[in-house]
Amino acid sequence: MLDDIAMRHKASRRLALAAAAVCILAISCGRSRVAVVDDAALAAADVDPANWITYGHTYSEQRFSRLQQVNEQTVSQLGLTWSFDLGTLRGLEATPLVKDGVLYTTSAWSLVYAFDARTGHLQWQYDPHVPKDHAKFVCCDVVNRGVALYRGRVYVGALDGRLIALEAKTGAVVWEVQTTPKDGPYAITGAPRIAKGRVIIGNAGSEYATRGYISAYDAETGNLIWRTYTVPGDPSKPFESEAMRHAAATWSGEWWKAGGGGSVWDTIVYDPELDFVYFGTGNGSPWYDRLRSKGDNLYIASIVALRAGNGEQVWHYQTTPGDNWDYDATEPLMLATLTIEGWQRRVLMQANKNGFFYELDRETGKLISVRPYAEINWATGIDSNGRPFENAATRELKDATIVRPSSAGAHNWHPMSFNPVTGLVYMGVLDATSLQAVTPGWKINLHDQITGLDRAYRGPVREQWLKMKPRGWLVAWDPVAQREVWQVEHPAPGSSGGTLATAGNLVFQGRADGKLQAYRATDGKVLWEFDTGTGIMAPPMTYQVGGTQYVAVLAGWGGPEVLGNRATGKGKVGPGKLLSFSLGGSATLPHYERVVPPVPTPTFHLAASRTEIEKGRVLFAAFCARCHGAEVVSGGSVTDLRFSATPTHEMFEEIVRGGARRVLGMPSFSEDLTSPQVRLIHAYVLDRARESARIDAAPR
Ligand code: CA
Repeated sequence: MLDDIAMRHKASRRLALAAAAVCILAISCGRSRVAVVDDAALAAADVDPANWITYGHTYSEQRFSRLQQVNEQTVSQLGLTWSFDLGTLRGLEATPLVKDGVLYTTSAWSLVYAFDARTGHLQWQYDPHVPKDHAKFVCCDVVNRGVALYRGRVYVGALDGRLIALEAKTGAVVWEVQTTPKDGPYAITGAPRIAKGRVIIGNAGSEYATRGYISAYDAETGNLIWRTYTVPGDPSKPFESEAMRHAAATWSGEWWKAGGGGSVWDTIVYDPELDFVYFGTGNGSPWYDRLRSKGDNLYIASIVALRAGNGEQVWHYQTTPGDNWDYDATEPLMLATLTIEGWQRRVLMQANKNGFFYELDRETGKLISVRPYAEINWATGIDSNGRPFENAATRELKDATIVRPSSAGAHNWHPMSFNPVTGLVYMGVLDATSLQAVTPGWKINLHDQITGLDRAYRGPVREQWLKMKPRGWLVAWDPVAQREVWQVEHPAPGSSGGTLATAGNLVFQGRADGKLQAYRATDGKVLWEFDTGTGIMAPPMTYQVGGTQYVAVLAGWGGPEVLGNRATGKGKVGPGKLLSFSLGGSATLPHYERVVPPVPTPTFHLAASRTEIEKGRVLFAAFCARCHGAEVVSGGSVTDLRFSATPTHEMFEEIVRGGARRVLGMPSFSEDLTSPQVRLIHAYVLDRARESARIDAAPR
């Protein structure tokens, strides 16, 4: 390992010298070592720590910065330098990018911002005007993970499936293309990546009737260069590739009618050494093999390598064959060269949702090593061919079954980081369980979610499940020994945020309760913290302008954590903002406290029997709970229906079926629900409001 680090440092010094030589020739040497973000700059991003020009900092996506003005000795003087209120209560997940003193980020609804990175002064803002009712086609809030920079342009994937190129100087649109079937249940939440003049983009939708794919567009023109599907389509039509023909043999029944799933909704990594693009695919659609198809169902829940030039598949590794638990393999992939058993190995690492930490050979996709990094009950281990030994009970799902990790994953999209000096990977780990039960009488719905999860399940297993409280940690993982070196448990359980590692022997991470913390990288001692007032999911990043190092992060809590998924704990919903810190910073934030008043007793009346209210409960769980909250208790970023006033109740059907609040993000359910069904839901909402009002009014 030490040899490896020495070698890396030597190689990096060579690159630094090469970059300095380029600088002598460039005109803008004084401000930055590289004039534009081009292929050479992206390949040498590691030796240009003043800038952060691609999602994971470098092509290897290690999120390690060599900046060390902020270090374990000085971090106690770190303070807020500037902040910007993004005017949203929705989830924020982006990694800001910085180039030559300008910070680019996205916010909820795919808005793009450019700031003076030193002062926080807004330079421009771009709103793609995503139709708000497209919120129906996202499982986990209207989030966006950020932009890509290339040759003076900023690239963003919009929630409604458009890929948009903007002028970096002005935010003016250069081109835009629709990358998904228009009005189909696809969405983009992930950040684009650049590979040799191509913009690589995936999309989300495995909780819907979608067929996963990844596309490459010409960065200059916006023309489609290639598109590669992840699951086979209708076998009566020609297969697009040999890989699809091979995959079709692992499916049965009429799987293509529900799309199959396998969305490329987050991680995409370019490997310039091998000219491969790696990505992970999502769960199958629907979630349960009995509703979808028997068999392994390639290439769902898989890590896949393609040739960057033509999108041809090179290898695949399926982490969860025949996935039955929403174990997407879309978590961040990280490239590194590690010395394993005396051999230098070019590895690809992933902390998968399913609880295993995988290390694959980047060239062949062969498993190098694997170890569980969390408590799991769906499998007992992995065999020598890389296949899990499954716990049959979790696949059979008789009645309802408690499955660990939960469908939120032991680790999810939250980026992890790797410090080559300590040799450790830093990542948030969530220990939570899912209550998996299959919807009775499930059928395909082309207009809404089709996971097959029975969110209305009530029974003794649920009582047992409710007692199991989620826990969360920041974990330092040794990827060579495949073991945990230290952990810090978070007081507020919930998915903890992405991480940043720096040469200052620090790890930065935000928490569900709004605290941003700096830990000593070697032992996890908390050295600094700042209360942002809003739960943090996004990863911090760092940059330097005018000799000052800054640490920036987005604070904004959303996603499944607040959208009706009680398995992942609670975070602090508050004003979404971008914050930038530096040594000696003394800015403050306005005080914010979310006050939830007692639920008022509704004055609106609707006659309904207990049987009708119960039917309404089942419908609410299937169609409404994922945004408005389990049992009509909202997490705070989407309207809590128990507080609805009489005029809202009077137009309940106009809103739900007629789309009267479409512009506010409430889609029409006219294709999913009949008028009598909407009435049943309404009766249940009113019943829950009355019940909550009674409890709130009772003396304590
Ligand atoms: Ca999923």
